[in-house]
Amino acid sequence: MDECIFCKIIEGKVPAKKVFESDRIVAFLDANPASPVHILVVPREHVPTLNDIPDGDPILGEMATVARMIARDLGVAESGYRFFINVNRGGGQVVFHLHAHLIAGNDFGTLFIHMGVAFSILWRKLLRLVRRDR
Ligand code: AMP
Ligand code: ZN
Repeated sequence: MDECIFCKIIEGKVPAKKVFESDRIVAFLDANPASPVHILVVPREHVPTLNDIPDGDPILGEMATVARMIARDLGVAESGYRFFINVNRGGGQVVFHLHAHLIAGNDFGTLFIHMGVAFSILWRKLLRLVRRDR
């Protein structure tokens, strides 16, 4: 866990462009985007793979809820997006801290989507500044 890059991002020890944070889930931009919108939805708790989630654990549903909220905020909910999890090496998993990919925007409105992502990051920064001033 000490060496887990996503744990470090969640703890703020490694920089990432976070677009969502709650007590259970963090979402940030993928460092090597496969598409104009490429966001990783990650539980705060270090769980290596989908296989390691106990039966009945609500975390997957919570990740999906966050993903569709972000998709809606970025204006891609209706046009469409992909939401998927790679599991283990054979499934393409490279980082062994559970995460789901939210990918959209290959074929339309690229600039618009970039602006949406940038705006949501700026908005969060602004909110943080305002809260710190109080
Ligand atoms: P997966 O193949 O499902 O394990 O995906 C891992 C993803 O994490 C890849 O899309 C990488 O580009 C992304 N990634 C790796 N390191 C970082 C990082 N430091 N910040 C943001 N994304 C990262
Ligand atoms: Zn981790």
